[in-house]
Amino acid sequence: MAEGLARTIDQLRAGGFFVLEQAPFGARTTYRVGGAAAAGVEVASVEELERLRDILSQGVANIPLFVLGRGSNVLVADGGFPGLLITLGAGFSWLQTHDSQVELGGASPLPVMARRIAKLGLDGFTWAVGVPGSVGGAVRMNAGGHGHVLAETLQSALLVDLTADAPPTWHSTAALELEYRSSAVGASQVVIAARFAFEAGDPHELAGQLSDIVAWRRAHQPGGQNAGSVFVNPERSPAAVLIEESGLKGYRYRSAAVSAKHANFIQADPQGSADDVFHLMQVVREQVERRTGIELRSEVRLVGFS
Ligand SMILES: Cc1cc2nc3c(=O)[nH]c(=O)nc-3n(C[C@H](O)[C@H](O)[C@H](O)COP(=O)(O)OP(=O)(O)OC[C@H]3O[C@@H](n4cnc5c(N)ncnc54)[C@H](O)[C@@H]3O)c2cc1C
Repeated sequence: MAEGLARTIDQLRAGGFFVLEQAPFGARTTYRVGGAAAAGVEVASVEELERLRDILSQGVANIPLFVLGRGSNVLVADGGFPGLLITLGAGFSWLQTHDSQVELGGASPLPVMARRIAKLGLDGFTWAVGVPGSVGGAVRMNAGGHGHVLAETLQSALLVDLTADAPPTWHSTAALELEYRSSAVGASQVVIAARFAFEAGDPHELAGQLSDIVAWRRAHQPGGQNAGSVFVNPERSPAAVLIEESGLKGYRYRSAAVSAKHANFIQADPQGSADDVFHLMQVVREQVERRTGIELRSEVRLVGFS
């Protein structure tokens, strides 16, 4: 372990944090493959998160940080991640309403929140029922689906930078620079909460929308170990179409396979290898570029690969 990280672990432990060495990382992603983080810490409350920031922002060492949500858009290498993995505990999952405004905690699971918001008769979040991530991950990724995107209803997000000696601050949607599956949220920033403004809607109609979305997902997307769409859709054509036209639907490399149901999903076998998934991603990129001239860009966050 790097000396800087070892010193940080000592400081965190002296500050009362429980720090796990060789903390499960790949196992906490929806791919369920990949290695461990050199160290991991779970934060229970905003106050604890601020204490963590106090220690990390003293600049004991410039160590790599990774904030993990529900791990549904991450592939970590079999060799693991040589830094500190930060996760938010259940204390970061909440829903508060102020009329049509809703505040969600950063660790709140999207499908649960989508159902609760629809039940409240608020329209604008049903798309999230099929996205198995957290609110924090959705802000970072500007998640979306079914013709909608988080940026449409997001008003602001509360962020703290773990490397800056500054309190948590609300950032407007414009300041977050939300674009297609990207944002200005950096690796050392944690999304603590997000505020949304929704329209009034009919709970029965919204319940119908939720059922339709779930049914559509079941019919069109595979289950099993994956992280949803692997590549961002290029402007010219959906990535799935380019991959299928390149003859790669169902193509296998060792323990990883391009889904036969949706060509922009790569499945990992149980007890499979993240490095196999990564290798298959490279094969797909090369073949698609050779055939179409289009360079596919990864939507999945790749961690620990050189
Ligand atoms: C079956 C399946 C279907 C999917 N369908 C869709 C879809 O339709 N649309 C879509 O957009 N995505 C989809 N995804 C991808 C994924 O669910 C989304 O990107 C989701 O928003 C990621 O949230 P997460 O909590 O899992 O983030 P993670 O995967 O844990 O992390 C993703 C990124 O967000 C950062 N992050 C996570 N939490 C925080 C936080 N609190 N503060 C700061 N940064 C944070 C991480 O550092 C990382 O950079 C799908 C995934 C799966 C497995």
